[in-house]
Parts: sequence; structure tokens; C-alpha cells
Amino acid sequence: MSKPQTIGEMLQEQGVSRRAFLKFTAYLASSMALTPQMAKAMADNLATARRQSVIWLSFQECSGCTESFTRSFSPTLEDLIFNFISLDYNETLMNVSGVAAIEARRKAVEENKGKYILVAEGAIPLDDDGVFSTSAGNTSLAELKELAKDAMAIIAVGSCATFGGIPAALPNPTGAVGIDQIITDKPIINIPGCPPIPEAMTGTIAYILSFGKLPELDHLKRPLIYFGNSIHDRCYRRPFYERGLFAKSFDDEGARKGWCLYEVGCKGPVTYNACATVKWNGGITFPIQSGHGCLGCSEPNFWDKGGFYKPIPAPINTVGKVVAGAAAAGVVAGAVSATIARARKKNAAKNKVKEENQ
Ligand code: SF4
Ligand code: SF4
Repeated sequence: MSKPQTIGEMLQEQGVSRRAFLKFTAYLASSMALTPQMAKAMADNLATARRQSVIWLSFQECSGCTESFTRSFSPTLEDLIFNFISLDYNETLMNVSGVAAIEARRKAVEENKGKYILVAEGAIPLDDDGVFSTSAGNTSLAELKELAKDAMAIIAVGSCATFGGIPAALPNPTGAVGIDQIITDKPIINIPGCPPIPEAMTGTIAYILSFGKLPELDHLKRPLIYFGNSIHDRCYRRPFYERGLFAKSFDDEGARKGWCLYEVGCKGPVTYNACATVKWNGGITFPIQSGHGCLGCSEPNFWDKGGFYKPIPAPINTVGKVVAGAAAAGVVAGAVSATIARARKKNAAKNKVKEENQ
């Protein structure tokens, strides 16, 4: 049997130029804010890496995460992404069905024991022995446990798989939970979002392939390369926020002038994600740029947090006065956000030192 090809060899065979490949890796590296040296290392390492076996399971969800993953902004990018990985099983995308699909999955597991990445999309219902979500006669709970056993790592994609998401929204009728509430003995990376940014999913896989290790994670297991800053930290409307210029409704003069959306419910100050930098649709725009506040979709329990169009409650300011209006509320929320960011950076630095000393 011939030796499996490297990604570089395969791309060459398919007529993808080195220039196109470098452009793509530079784009991914910049989405992670890697240094130029790391970007170069990423390109070199990816070219010589073998394709990563990925098994993608769908549980209690809407398939929006698969949709997001495959809706890349150009066919070239999409092709390149699929050249990095061998998507050995994905119920939504695969063209075989029934027994043949299950057999393909069994074979992929057997051939890649301990080496495959398990991607989990959707929450797991626990009530009534998990009967609310089944596939091929097995509950999602049983399927997850079986496929997690031989995985190298698990990537939980979307807010349902990470934190329970919409299925777990009150009153949570099926007892839905995120993947890390069930699997506790495997490395887990959470990539929340409803849906998650496609580059955050592909970039994380590319990072693992390039550097042979998982990226640094925050306290919610989210990669810091994509979730290290709040939306508010990088929002282009921030200067308006700093000057206390807020839209009061979606059709007032402030909204037309592009002022800060804090008072119409933007959750950017307490939401960690890369929307303000990586953006959506190939970097064209993101919700705030289109005039809608952030809903906080990459944070736990975002659906139940008290209303998408209600501003974060006005807190007490640092000198002990109750501050009227959103300007003050925003300032304190910003301070909280900055404090959390500082704590996260400190934690990440500590982890790095620990890692280097191991
Ligand atoms: S509150 Fe929202 S719109 Fe205003 S600066 Fe922060 S993230 Fe941007
Ligand atoms: S802007 Fe906020 S609600 Fe919108 S996708 Fe990004 S994190 Fe989710």
C-alpha cells in the first residue's frame, strides 16, 4: 500500500499553488494573531503533516455548525480546509447512509485509534436515559461515550455542545448538557457560538496539526487565540462608547450615525469571541457592523440571560455612586471585561510557564 500523502503533496497534485497555500495559511495565522515566525512555522508544518482524521457527530442541534463550517467564503478556502482533514464521518454531509455510514465510521475508528479528533455538535439530553436524541437506535449519550473512548481529543463546536445552548434553555425539558459535563477524561476544546465562526473551527484544527499540541484554553476551555478578547475590546464602535454616545433605538439618529449599541442591549462587553476581528462571511462584516448588538452567543446560558435588547444592568461605579445611564454602566462593564481579560492573560501566562517546565 502506498504511504499516505502529506498535505503539501496532495495540494500539489491537485494543482493548488504554493502561493495559494501560503496565502491561506497566512490568513488563518492572522485570524489567530500569530507572530510572523509562527505563521511561517504553521505553513511549513502543515505542508508536511498528514491529513487529520475527524469524526463529526451530531446530537441535539440544528446543523447550523456544520453549515457554518462548510460555508467558507471561497471555494478555494473550502477546498483547502477539506484537504487538511479527512472528514471520515459526518451524518449531515456524507453521501453514504444507514449501515454503510456506520460501517465507514467503525473503519475510521479502527484505523485511527487514539489519533482521531472527535467533533461534537449539539447538546446531550440526559433525562429518561437520553431517549430524546437517538441515531441508528443508540442514544446520543451512548454514541458520545463510545466514540470519545478512542479519540485523541474532542472539539465541542457550537454553544449547544459546549454549554447546552438552546436545548438547555429554560425549562430545559430534556435535561440537555454540554459535552464536558459527560466526558471528563479526554482533552476537550470548546468552540462556542451560535453558530461558531468557521475560522475558529478550522483554525483550531490547523493549529493542532501544525504545532502538535492543543492551543491554550481559557477557564471555559475556549482557545485563547480566538476567545482571548471580548467583542467590546476590539469593537470599532468603542470610541463612541468611550465618549458616551449611544443609540437609544434601532432607528434613531445615533443608530444612523453608527454609535455604540450598548443601550439597545449589546452584550459585547461580557462576550468573548473573535467576531470583531475575524468577522463573518470571509471577513466582510459582523452583527454590530450591520447595526445589531451582540447577543452574547458564545457565553454560557446566553438564551436565558434576561433579554437580548435589555442593556446589561447599570452597576455601581468605582467611587460607590449609582451611575445613571448606559454610559456609566458601559464603563463599569468595560472595566469588568478588562479585569477578566487581565486575569485570563495572567492565567494563560502561568499555564505557559507550567507547560515549559514540564
Ligand atoms: S457595547 Fe457593543 S457596540 Fe458598544 S462598543 Fe461595546 S461591543 Fe461595540
Ligand atoms: S457578535 Fe455576539 S451574538 Fe453575534 S455571533 Fe458574535 S458573539 Fe455571537
